[in-house]
Amino acid sequence: MPVSAQLFDRASAVIPGGVNSPVRAFKSVGGTPRFIASANGYTLTDADGNDYVDLVCSWGPMILGHAHPAVVEAVQRAAVGGLSFGAPTAAEIELAELIVERVAPVERVRLVNSGTEATMSAVRLARGYTGRTKIIKFSGCYHGHVDALLADAGSGVATLGLPTSPGVTGAQASDTIVLPYNDLAAVAAAFAAHPGQIACVITEAAAGNMGAVAPQPGFNEGLRALTAEHGALLIMDEVMTGFRVSRSGWFGRDGVAGDLYTFGKVMSGGLPAAAFGGRAEVMNQLAPLGPVYQAGTLSGNPVAVAAGLATLRAADDAVYAALDRNAERLGGLLAEALGAAGVEHQVQFAGNMVSVFFSDRPVTDYATAKASQTWRFPAFFHALLDGGVYAPPSAFEAWFVSAALDEDAFDRIAAALPAAANAAAAATPEGSRA
Ligand SMILES: *Cc1c(COP(=O)(O)O)cnc(C)c1O
Repeated sequence: MPVSAQLFDRASAVIPGGVNSPVRAFKSVGGTPRFIASANGYTLTDADGNDYVDLVCSWGPMILGHAHPAVVEAVQRAAVGGLSFGAPTAAEIELAELIVERVAPVERVRLVNSGTEATMSAVRLARGYTGRTKIIKFSGCYHGHVDALLADAGSGVATLGLPTSPGVTGAQASDTIVLPYNDLAAVAAAFAAHPGQIACVITEAAAGNMGAVAPQPGFNEGLRALTAEHGALLIMDEVMTGFRVSRSGWFGRDGVAGDLYTFGKVMSGGLPAAAFGGRAEVMNQLAPLGPVYQAGTLSGNPVAVAAGLATLRAADDAVYAALDRNAERLGGLLAEALGAAGVEHQVQFAGNMVSVFFSDRPVTDYATAKASQTWRFPAFFHALLDGGVYAPPSAFEAWFVSAALDEDAFDRIAAALPAAANAAAAATPEGSRA
């Protein structure tokens, strides 16, 4: 029995489903999750000693590749200096300054511990600032496991096919208006139906949690105009896109300014930290300046801040050029192999996030994502895994490249793809491997 399978059995006896975050369990693709022993550059090594080219990158953070020497050194240095103080440090200012410098609409930043905390706090602040209760979110967008934001959510909620979650009260759900992504007319209609009641619109700056689904031209601009017209705030959730799709995240690509931003993933380099920020006038409503309460024992943790600072400092123009180039090259290889196997597919990009939909038409929202032939994905995924390529274990997740991918990595991807594409082509709706 492989070591990963033994570990999964042991884990399942003490951890629900054997994992600490649902998509890791391989439930929608079947089989046993690989337990990771170590990672370096683009390589993941599992507990059985198998190597994989990593196209998940910890779901986004590892843009420099794993165990990047500058980041590891910064973490080691910070750890030796003490793990947590519960008092401010100079490094937190440096990280906040870097974020403010890179994302122009952000004038003030507060550090938190996860993307979930960032979106939860941003929504509370938007409600506190506007004195309104309702919020708009889009189907297929995922903003962490905040009660009010789980309705029709992407990521693991989509992977497991859940409409929402038990444990979310009717009151929490009823203040959330869920609309189709890329549908401005629906947003305008919602504002007309609830005059003076909508505190904010929260959107992924470019959707990555139903697969990569970029905003259509004019969508983010339209959200900006409608929220401004109706006195609501626009929250740009850049937890996934921030500091990945450009040095200034998706804002660096479309220039549409939100009132509030949420960040995570890349900004903490693989350690648990995240942030929310925005216009000073709004952010200054937070305690201790204002009445909106938000706090965290470990917020601004010195080791996490060191990892984030080292990652952002190393993420220069050459790194962003490499991420774009690598995504383009991965997309080209995917399209070539799937085309050769004769299977209907869409290779989609949102900046340098990539995904594959088995569909004859472009995916623009959650309905078209769900209408794709997701039953082809398990066979595709497992053939890639057998070929030494670690893709996301879900048809509804983006694939993430790092700047560490080199010629050898692409040779291995190219070698694994034909068998995977043939497996996808041969798959049937009944024949899922689960
Ligand atoms: C990952 C993600 C979150 C949640 O972040 P966690 O750190 O997992 O809580 C929120 N929003 C988006 C867009 C994300 O991709």
